[in-house]
Amino acid sequence: MSSNFLDLANPGVKGLHPYVPGKPVEELERELGITNIVKLASNENPLGPSESVLQAIQKALPELSRYPDGNGFTLKAALAEHLSVDADQITLGNGSNDVLELLARTFLSVGDEVIFSEHAFAVYPIVTQAVGATAVVTPARNWAHDLDAMADAITDKTKLIFIANPNNPTGTWLSKGELKAFLKIVPEHVVVVLDEAYFEYVDQENYPDGIKLLKHYPNLVVTRTFSKIYGLASLRVGYGISNPDIADLLNRVRQPFNVNALAQAAAVAALADSEYLLRSREVNARGLEQLIQGFETLDLDYISSVGNFICVHIGEKAAQANDELLREGVIVRPVANYRMPEYLRVTVGTEQENETFLHALKRVLDRI
Ligand SMILES: *Cc1c(COP(=O)(O)O)cnc(C)c1O
Repeated sequence: MSSNFLDLANPGVKGLHPYVPGKPVEELERELGITNIVKLASNENPLGPSESVLQAIQKALPELSRYPDGNGFTLKAALAEHLSVDADQITLGNGSNDVLELLARTFLSVGDEVIFSEHAFAVYPIVTQAVGATAVVTPARNWAHDLDAMADAITDKTKLIFIANPNNPTGTWLSKGELKAFLKIVPEHVVVVLDEAYFEYVDQENYPDGIKLLKHYPNLVVTRTFSKIYGLASLRVGYGISNPDIADLLNRVRQPFNVNALAQAAAVAALADSEYLLRSREVNARGLEQLIQGFETLDLDYISSVGNFICVHIGEKAAQANDELLREGVIVRPVANYRMPEYLRVTVGTEQENETFLHALKRVLDRI
């Protein structure tokens, strides 16, 4: 790129690196000329979309020439019912990433500080820097968010705090007690964003439901998504839940038609399909167990996870192992850009996919 244009970019953007997604299956197919690729790289639901979602999309197709409902009335009503919140607390997003960006654009200016943890989701630094705010990254403790360190980092300039519970890529989680103790000491001028992208997977007894905390903490925003357990990653639909005043602000910044009609119809159908949710949870719990067994057989350490993914310790040759896994037709996620160069993150797949991955990993470790 011409350096002149680089000079024109705002200072935050100059220092940015683009988000690196999991490698698409088609890309690896093109590169290697192979099929039957197993992708366990983007925390997608291995069951594919539910039947009722496909039917809802079919039904919505004839209206494609119309703009979608810009206020998402039906989806918001379904979410309000499902979550026991008011519709005016909901902000729909083109994926929950969109809501994260809306929060940054709504609340941040140059010079403001944003706190998030080491090993946290890559979108937090991107939305922070893109608007010229300053990222304050606190060290992790045992791979997890260190809420004491995050509280200590709060200054007069702090505007936003991003917390992922559970966190991606580490799979670590914060208990209700820990989170509430933290929220109590955060000043009200600081907006706390609780990213619950994997909420529906967690069944730990002390795991907090962020939405239940909203009435005590007006400065709290909870984000969730249809990309993970609901199996709609391709459609891009997520949401934020907050007090109505914050939702009103986000709505001023939001693009008018940020969630398309097929996504809205699919999300409504997905919410109603509790059987699919249950099955997804079961497949994940069994698959996580299967991966852990496999790692133990291979004598590999891993970070305990409550999500639909797990980080396995490969060591210094993690990048090489990743390359070799690709050659075996298995796509996982290197996490060196999360300051975890010795790990690979693996999404929980179907039983067959997990087995294919574990066999490939064994062959790879034997030869590198
Ligand atoms: C996957 C993920 C999201 C969701 O992204 P979408 O834009 O909703 O697809 C948000 N936060 C974290 C931590 C994630 O891992």
